[in-house]
Amino acid sequence: MNAQTQTRDVPVAHKLKTGAEFKATLDDGRAIWVNGKRIASVFEEPALAAGVDLVASMFDDQFKPEFADATTCIDPDSGAIVSRAWQVPRTIEDLADRRKLIEYTSLKTAGTFGRPPDLAPAIAVGLLAYLPTFKAKKSLIDGCAPDFAENIERYVAFGRDNNLTASESLTGPQNDRSSAKGSESSLLKVKNVEKGGIRISGAKTVGSISAQANEIFFTNLGGIRETPAEACIWASVPIASDGIKLISREMVSHPGADPFDHPIASLGEEADQFIVFDNVFVPTDRIFNLGDPTAMQYYGPVCVFAHWHVLTRLAVKAELFVGAGQLVLDVLGTGHIPAVQGMLGELIEYAQTLRAFIYAAEAKAKPTEGEVMAPDVGMLTAGRLYSIQHYPRIIHTLQELCGQGLVMRFGKAAFENPDIGHHLKDLLPGKGVSAEVKEQLMNFIWDMTSSSLAGRVALFENVNASPAPRLRERLYNEVKRDRFVEQVKTLARMP
Ligand SMILES: Cc1cc2nc3c(=O)[nH]c(=O)nc-3n(C[C@H](O)[C@H](O)[C@H](O)COP(=O)(O)OP(=O)(O)OC[C@H]3O[C@@H](n4cnc5c(N)ncnc54)[C@H](O)[C@@H]3O)c2cc1C
Repeated sequence: MNAQTQTRDVPVAHKLKTGAEFKATLDDGRAIWVNGKRIASVFEEPALAAGVDLVASMFDDQFKPEFADATTCIDPDSGAIVSRAWQVPRTIEDLADRRKLIEYTSLKTAGTFGRPPDLAPAIAVGLLAYLPTFKAKKSLIDGCAPDFAENIERYVAFGRDNNLTASESLTGPQNDRSSAKGSESSLLKVKNVEKGGIRISGAKTVGSISAQANEIFFTNLGGIRETPAEACIWASVPIASDGIKLISREMVSHPGADPFDHPIASLGEEADQFIVFDNVFVPTDRIFNLGDPTAMQYYGPVCVFAHWHVLTRLAVKAELFVGAGQLVLDVLGTGHIPAVQGMLGELIEYAQTLRAFIYAAEAKAKPTEGEVMAPDVGMLTAGRLYSIQHYPRIIHTLQELCGQGLVMRFGKAAFENPDIGHHLKDLLPGKGVSAEVKEQLMNFIWDMTSSSLAGRVALFENVNASPAPRLRERLYNEVKRDRFVEQVKTLARMP
């Protein structure tokens, strides 16, 4: 695609898709099962379709002047307007610019989509950040010898030029964790090598948004159990590839609900998928590592941009919690109570702390060996650990601020019912607002903290990019403390 856009002063070539063009790409015969039934297309399941509509609206926003700066940038090579999702940050200023898109997609989904269209591209950019390392690596699988670095560069260009969306699944299906990794029947691995590529079989798991995206980007996370050579792979294939089956978890949102009742859950969801690979062909040019266990240790460095995305999204959501909390104080008239002010203070502390970690990670950013500007991993990991440890308490505090209003919600139809609506309107107004407006606020907070959608999101926040024990382990392994040790030795007059 190489069209002209009229939204800027001077028509400029662009490589952007409209929402309708994006939706057309999903009508590709992909194999999806929901509630045990094969569906003809992603548009057949209301929760998936609503989620696609939300993502499509992000594509349309790329053409609107008010969102152009957050969602698009100029490709330095071609001069065309491209999505910021595939932007390669070279400077600290570039990081701040790229963050605008994370903030935009986070606000658009109220932080409920952890894998919006700009998340998986951040992993491809992470591979690009270590191009010299991947250039030096050789395939250890006989008969297939891709140039990993060329493939990475070509893939980032392909994603950028096609305004591509991708999902990612790095983790493996849950089964007996005490067994040897290589003995798991679910482990995704190379079955055979053939002309032009390899065949892989096995499964990936919780590939959030994969039913609603173009591609799946995958690897097998290293972890403490040894990964056999035939499972050491980084690659990406189209979701509609022959042999891929997507098995959806049950839906948790309220597509089609009146936005009054469910302002967020009516937007649909990014559904998590169990992804079966049955003899799937991966072309040689889509392989970014093959057979080399040392490349699997690059999970941390390669995913640094994705983890920066995760923390930024949580900061945006934390700010929504502050806004919602302030509104609760306003409409309930509880803002004069010192204990209530203290509870809002907790929400503010959380939001400010997450922002501080993000700014610190960007301020301490350093160029990688591939000359990509990478946020500081120690700050990010500490921030991510703080964010997930405190998330349940923050949800609890926001719920507590709401009191009975969070559950005593009746819905638009009750307010419009001639027999009971007037009672609700007369007996339940807030401070300076009608009963309906008070309920709208409570409905928003319900969707964000207490609904089935919120339950899935809370689980997601806790483990989607490593649970707390693993983050502590990463801090131990990755944050240097020699300087502090020397300081103590000096003060303690130790040798
Ligand atoms: C809703 C949701 C969406 C997700 N979306 C994605 C996605 O899009 N892409 C993706 O790649 N992943 C995704 N994840 C998966 C996430 O990466 C994993 O859940 C996470 O890596 C933990 O692995 P596991 O669930 O297999 O836990 P298991 O390995 O089964 O372990 C269970 C628990 O044991 C503990 N544990 C296990 N091993 C260790 C260890 N070595 N050190 C410390 N503690 C340990 C942890 O508490 C862990 O939660 C998602 C998860 C959820 C819940």
